[in-house]
Amino acid sequence: MKIVTDGLIIKQQNIGEQDKLCTVLTRELGVVRAFVRGAKNIKSPKSAATGLLCYSQLSLYHSKDAYVIDEARVQEMFFDLRKDVEKVALAQYFCELAAYICPTEQSADKQLSLVLNALYLLSNNKKHHSLLKACVEMRLACLGGYMPDLVMCRGCGEYSSQQMYFSLSDGSILCDKCFAQAPRGSSVPIDQGVLQALRHTVFSEDKKLFSFSLSEEGLEKLSYITESYICRVLEKDFQTLHFYKTIKS
Ligand SMILES: [Zn+2]
Repeated sequence: MKIVTDGLIIKQQNIGEQDKLCTVLTRELGVVRAFVRGAKNIKSPKSAATGLLCYSQLSLYHSKDAYVIDEARVQEMFFDLRKDVEKVALAQYFCELAAYICPTEQSADKQLSLVLNALYLLSNNKKHHSLLKACVEMRLACLGGYMPDLVMCRGCGEYSSQQMYFSLSDGSILCDKCFAQAPRGSSVPIDQGVLQALRHTVFSEDKKLFSFSLSEEGLEKLSYITESYICRVLEKDFQTLHFYKTIKS
């Protein structure tokens, strides 16, 4: 049976002389691995449309134990993104994260839209890289079932205090008084601006996700918190994240 869906190519690997195996974040089926026969033939439209970071309309069928991409048509190639090594590195991190945390064999509509929006904004220099990174990390964590508990201080219920502490291990927050009484390891102090931004990445409507502002210093702190949190809850070290940080510094 043929399935037509749209998807972003998040990983590709050569198989023999002519074929490749793609990992695709699709709207209908989540993350799928699919073979592309004759992908090296540059005259084949499938060749371009199944390149890394291509967003394409795909026609797939299931053969034995894997999917095969029968036809592919490019919708967006993110050309501007490819001209900048730091942007490509961040985009590849988004892809590795998505491949790890997004569901398989079920809809990943929200996740795909999130990553595509982030790539679009990254490609067009519309937002600070650390802002995009923090939003993608935290929203993918929430969609994957790892929503932190940012509503109020876990000890006393205080909504906000001058300084609060975010626990990287369980995603809860404590106010300064509760933290002083019972300090916890792996907690990061956060000021009100960072807390507000962190809450925004978790609770805002999808269409407003990337619409907030924070100082440069605040964004770096936010990005450190979201990456530490997601790597910790997933118990995963992302090679592409290391690479991005090497390029960035
Ligand atoms: Zn408290």
